[in-house]
Amino acid sequence: MPVRIISTGGTIASTEDEGADTNPDLTSDDLVAAVPALGALADVETEDFSTVPSPYLTFEDLLELVDRLAELDDDLNVDGVVVTQGTDNLDETSYFVDCCYDGGTPVAFTGAMRTPSQAGPDGPANLLASVRTVLSDTAREQGALVVFNDRVHAAREVVKTHSMNVDTFQTPEFGPLASVDENRVTWRRYPESPDPTFEPLSSDLPETVLTCVATLDMSDSVLRLGRDADAVCLAAMGAGHVPPKVLPALETLRDDGVPVVATTRCPEGRLARRTYGFRGSERTLQELGCYYSDLNLQKTRVKTVLALADGRLADAFDRPTPS
Ligand code: GLU
Repeated sequence: MPVRIISTGGTIASTEDEGADTNPDLTSDDLVAAVPALGALADVETEDFSTVPSPYLTFEDLLELVDRLAELDDDLNVDGVVVTQGTDNLDETSYFVDCCYDGGTPVAFTGAMRTPSQAGPDGPANLLASVRTVLSDTAREQGALVVFNDRVHAAREVVKTHSMNVDTFQTPEFGPLASVDENRVTWRRYPESPDPTFEPLSSDLPETVLTCVATLDMSDSVLRLGRDADAVCLAAMGAGHVPPKVLPALETLRDDGVPVVATTRCPEGRLARRTYGFRGSERTLQELGCYYSDLNLQKTRVKTVLALADGRLADAFDRPTPS
């Protein structure tokens, strides 16, 4: 069972220098060498994509990774792919790939919260569980997966919830797709219908998609900056609410034709369609022509970037009209 492991860097591939600062410098071969049990499970092949902390990754890098995954999908000698990376934005990168990769070969993202030199490193166990997962029959056609701490999540749902704890990746509201116990992967549910598969060219990626979180007595300054942006992604309070004092800035964005893609800032739940009618409620967002996203703010931005690059914003997001 051939499995390809692609390393990009992150804590899983990091060592400490003399000053005890941690930096990614291990190769994919180093990662595999730390997990002898892999040999009995799969014919593991490795490749090094990069050796960077995840905040260094770009959309351009991810397009390159998607091309590489498509090549591996065409290769009959590859049964599954595991991508290792830093955890900081793994919930965004894996979702980007989920939106662009339409191959049947299972792809799982994983990483570690502890370096190989810290007590109780989690990288080897995450790598082993990821290989088990991509070799599991049910992993095909499930979109990009995130395997961490013996749980399997859908890339479009998973969130990094803790800055340091090994149990950081969670699927709010609905829970993981599957669990890995011993050598078994037990699937409990399947991801909801996949997002459209985007085929963006790097030359079409928008330069400026801003994010703005609605907060108590917020200023409208970020929204005013949005006049020069390709789009603004707005995490509204609760079911879709913003302070009335930012409405003139949102009206300007509408008048200037800058798309606003709204979601909720709550970790669970979605924007309401028709519950509240006060000025600044979801009704106002609809009157302002906002698109609706049921992803969190980071993933909403990823999807907005891809949809703009593909010229398919209206395809990608719902735009309810007030009734
Ligand atoms: N805690 C992060 C990691 O898991 C460090 C930075 C990064 O995301 O590369 O790798």
